Amino acid sequence: MFDAVFLGAAMQIPSLLQIEAECRRGALAKRIGPISDDTIGYALQRQSPEPVFTLACEVARRLKRNGVLRSDWSRGLVVAAVDGIEICRSFARCCDACMHRQVQHKVRGELRTDTQYYHRIVAAAIVSTPFPIPLGIRFQKDGEAEVPCALALLEDLTDQLGRRFLDLLVGDAIYLQAPLVNAVEGLGLDWAFTLKENQPELLREAERFTTGPPTAVESDAKQELRCWDLPEVDWPVADRQVRVVKTVRVDHKRQVTVSQDGEHLHKSKTDVAVESTNFYATNFPLGAIPPTFVHQLSRSRWRIDTEVFQTITTDCHLKHPAVHRSTALVVLTMIRLLAYTLSLVFYHRQVCRHARGPRDSFHEFAKRLAYGFVALSPDTS
Ligand SMILES: [Zn+2]
Repeated sequence: MFDAVFLGAAMQIPSLLQIEAECRRGALAKRIGPISDDTIGYALQRQSPEPVFTLACEVARRLKRNGVLRSDWSRGLVVAAVDGIEICRSFARCCDACMHRQVQHKVRGELRTDTQYYHRIVAAAIVSTPFPIPLGIRFQKDGEAEVPCALALLEDLTDQLGRRFLDLLVGDAIYLQAPLVNAVEGLGLDWAFTLKENQPELLREAERFTTGPPTAVESDAKQELRCWDLPEVDWPVADRQVRVVKTVRVDHKRQVTVSQDGEHLHKSKTDVAVESTNFYATNFPLGAIPPTFVHQLSRSRWRIDTEVFQTITTDCHLKHPAVHRSTALVVLTMIRLLAYTLSLVFYHRQVCRHARGPRDSFHEFAKRLAYGFVALSPDTS
């Protein structure tokens, strides 16, 4: 059953029915043989999630030993990001672990309010590596917020991986809360979180001390990055001081403008400067490291959203439950994520590295895996 779901996920198959079809007479006929979608669903519902979580951690440890977690920019630090995502939104299908809310929506042109069911998961992924590597996920319980759920996930990961596996945690502004940063430091991790309006006093202080000239400036033809480094800013609600780095990034872009001159269209290019300001809070001791590093760190957190969540929701069908029963959904999602992680590592380290000329996309690679399974029975592999 595990092999069927795991290989099905590696082939990026969306439903259990399709896995059943592949097992009967498709790509998995030799490897797995006939097995029904009901049997898979039944087995998943009775499988405990813990061994799958442990297995994912074992994989992560192996990846570290094999040097896969090395980074070219993070100064030897292993940086992880945490973030949440909503999956399995439905007005009809639900299970006993669903979260729910009232939502206004249109049914045949008529506005009505209905109960919408959904799940939320928090994921942790390493983002300092050339491609982000997922470490684990945890389902939010009904009524549980993202931040406590993320902390529980980090505690589980630390239990399994040990305290020195990760060095630094990055996340968006909701993670900048006193209880969380204290707990994260308790796990032996440094942190860098975006600072926004949800910590108004700290933000005001940071704004007040960064009106002068910047501490550091980095620029090239395309952009300029100005940094202000405040090593000790008072954070009254947390009763402590933190480092705050403010960055102003100016992107120089050429904008094409089209203007009409009688019968003729005139194209002209003008230089425009797009400016964006960000604040980051961190406990990271910079020492001789330039403050622009904190900017780089904090931007790496986007990769969990733009790369990990994008791929697992589009190619790996995570938003659509192939089985919607409480435990089965958790176990299925964990196995899918594990299959995603391992095939992603194989894709980057074996396929992309040795490819000459145009290479398959991750999705095409999954289809090619399926052809491979047709020929391979367990005895010949
Ligand atoms: Zn549910």
